[in-house]
Amino acid sequence: MAEVTWRELAPGVHVRRHEELNLNCGLVVGQERALVIDTRSYHQHGMELLAAVRELTELELVVVNTHAHYDHCFGNSAFRDSQIYGHVGAADELTRTGDTQRSQVVEHLRRTQRAEMAAEVEATELVLPFYLIEEDTEIDLGGRSVHLLFGGKGHTDHDLAVAVPDAGVVFAGDLVEEGADPHMEDAYPRDWAPTLLTLLRHPATEEAGIWVPGHGDVVDRSYVEQQAELMARLADRLDEVLAGGATGVDGLVSACRGLGLETQTLRDAAVRALELRA
Ligand SMILES: [Zn+2]
Repeated sequence: MAEVTWRELAPGVHVRRHEELNLNCGLVVGQERALVIDTRSYHQHGMELLAAVRELTELELVVVNTHAHYDHCFGNSAFRDSQIYGHVGAADELTRTGDTQRSQVVEHLRRTQRAEMAAEVEATELVLPFYLIEEDTEIDLGGRSVHLLFGGKGHTDHDLAVAVPDAGVVFAGDLVEEGADPHMEDAYPRDWAPTLLTLLRHPATEEAGIWVPGHGDVVDRSYVEQQAELMARLADRLDEVLAGGATGVDGLVSACRGLGLETQTLRDAAVRALELRA
């Protein structure tokens, strides 16, 4: 198994890429506090992340969940002594779907012969973010600030990005995806591009050349611009077909072929586009 280590992207700004799901977690170290971005998939994963954080800093920790998908927040139970930030929609979503997410993950892990991990997820207590925000929020870490940014709906209705302006780094959560298609299951396909553009134009990200996706390799600004273009083209196609009176998933999917997205991604996007129109 590849060794999991922190990579320093800028002074005091670290990313930890995990083999499981290619998930990225972040750590931003100030003079008085340090911010942990996302907490992995279950309690033991969170504990392991916490131990890795403690190799770099002994400072008081603040945590942010970029959104309420299990792989970004089920490790919260390991950080329950910290202030855990999230969008108010993330707490709602976790309250509504946390148990369902858990049983789906457990079932998937059992089906793929990972009974031990399934038991870990099953035993994990869900801890909701409890510093809830709806608007952009600045957190002072001592000597440096981070900005929690809500650009609008996209991957979910409550994605937060974390900008570190003095370092030129943005942790984008699953609004940006590398090595796989943007994940559409809970997405707002028509809002995704405008949301990315809002984030790209925000004063806190103006100088940011380093963007950390929720999964995959760290990318640059132009990659994010390209992903915004792709999401805009997808939204245009969906709009066109819907305006033409299409009512079926298959019609939407075939109209969106040629964008370079997987069929499953197009199916998810089509289902969402139809749901959201209703
Ligand atoms: Zn996600």
